[in-house]
Amino acid sequence: MFDVDWKTPHLWRKTARPRTTAPSLEGDLKTDVLVVGGGFTGMASALGARDSGVDVIMLEGNEIGSSASGRNNGLVISHHSKASPSEFEATYGKQVGERYNRMVAQAAGVAFGLMQRFGINAHQVQEGWIQPAHTEKTLARARQFHDEWKAFGADVSWLDRDEVTARIGSPYLGGWIVHNSGHINPFAMTVGLAGALENEGVRIFENSRALRMEKVQGGWRVHTASGSVTAPQVVLATNALTNDIWPGLKRTLIPFKVFQAATDPLPEQLRSQILVGNPAVSDMRNDLRYFHYDVDNRLVSGGTHTFWNNEAERGRAKVADLLGKAFKAFGGKPVINEYWHGTFAVVPDFRPRLFRLAPGVVFGGVYSGRGVALSMSLGQEIGRWAAGCRTDDQMPLPVTDMRPVPFHPIAVQVANRTHAWNRYKDSKT
Ligand SMILES: Cc1cc2nc3c(=O)[nH]c(=O)nc-3n(C[C@H](O)[C@H](O)[C@H](O)COP(=O)(O)OP(=O)(O)OC[C@H]3O[C@@H](n4cnc5c(N)ncnc54)[C@H](O)[C@@H]3O)c2cc1C
Repeated sequence: MFDVDWKTPHLWRKTARPRTTAPSLEGDLKTDVLVVGGGFTGMASALGARDSGVDVIMLEGNEIGSSASGRNNGLVISHHSKASPSEFEATYGKQVGERYNRMVAQAAGVAFGLMQRFGINAHQVQEGWIQPAHTEKTLARARQFHDEWKAFGADVSWLDRDEVTARIGSPYLGGWIVHNSGHINPFAMTVGLAGALENEGVRIFENSRALRMEKVQGGWRVHTASGSVTAPQVVLATNALTNDIWPGLKRTLIPFKVFQAATDPLPEQLRSQILVGNPAVSDMRNDLRYFHYDVDNRLVSGGTHTFWNNEAERGRAKVADLLGKAFKAFGGKPVINEYWHGTFAVVPDFRPRLFRLAPGVVFGGVYSGRGVALSMSLGQEIGRWAAGCRTDDQMPLPVTDMRPVPFHPIAVQVANRTHAWNRYKDSKT
């Protein structure tokens, strides 16, 4: 159910610069840091390690960006998934909590900074991310997020009812904007980052799934179908599609399937009323609404299915319905032609994970749907750590043992089938 049809072109891939796929691994190689997984976390880890001066190899099971990193909505957001800065400090303690909050506050800026550093054209737009509130309860929560980040020193502003409604083109009670945030074509970003890594001397192998690993003299040997890599330090950045490479690892996260869809390019007459100024937006519904324009002025949104039969047809219809209701300017339902899906990893407490699986083996990631910006910051820190330039105490997250999700098979089913309930709850508010 969670595998992606990664060879089928989707909007982001169709509108990104093409890239020549790297070779697959043949034979036995050695390196200082081996990164498994070619999403944003893996690529940022490879960059962090390489910038620290060590030799790096990256193995990707399919194609760079074939999973969540290349298929997501493209919202680049400096804010937690469902928590405020004080709530993170309550969980992690003052020192680590503050360090983590600082990383999150800067994460979007770091992501846009990478595009600048490497001259990456990811169709990036840094016009802020707005989180509007549709009920009094969510308005209070939005106010709390705004006030706490403002006190923390983040560049955020409050938007009153008229302002937020005019900017979005849809009625809301108020909201807040994070100015360093925005949106990208995420697949174009994966293409750009892969090129940058190759230029920096990282050896990338695609269509090279890591199948198993063993402890050997001087580190770990990781095997693919046609070769192996031996390294003292191994970073597993395999996210939702984690296989059996490490016993029990896939039971620490819940794969969560989401679809995306986009309108045809919208004319200026509609764009002057919908998402004025080209911000990124996601609201606070349980079944949240989110949207931004792509480079050709398509409005890109998405949703979830409880059952995945007839998924494309039903997904297009759902998004047409959602956008028609959200934006009166359409005067009905817009035409939706683009449809694709992806899978990300979620955990019950919505907190990212950093596991030391054994001496020399770490797993990092799991952003519960908020990983575009964060993965690029956390990944680089993981790479520096693997290269020996960070101690556990300097990391922005506690380094822990594996933490399996309780009742994992049931949790996977429940998480992927609560959409109808979420929509019902939304309809009652
Ligand atoms: C539809 C959708 C919409 C989303 N929208 C947003 C958004 O707008 N904003 C936001 O912040 N976040 C969003 N997210 C979440 C975000 O995309 C992810 O949090 C982030 O991309 C995770 O990056 P990653 O590198 O950890 O994982 P991935 O991108 O999943 O990368 C993991 C990689 O590891 C590879 N792999 C797995 N096992 C092996 C193995 N054994 N050997 C070799 N390779 C392996 C996989 O093929 C994959 O390429 C969305 C996700 C989806 C699916």
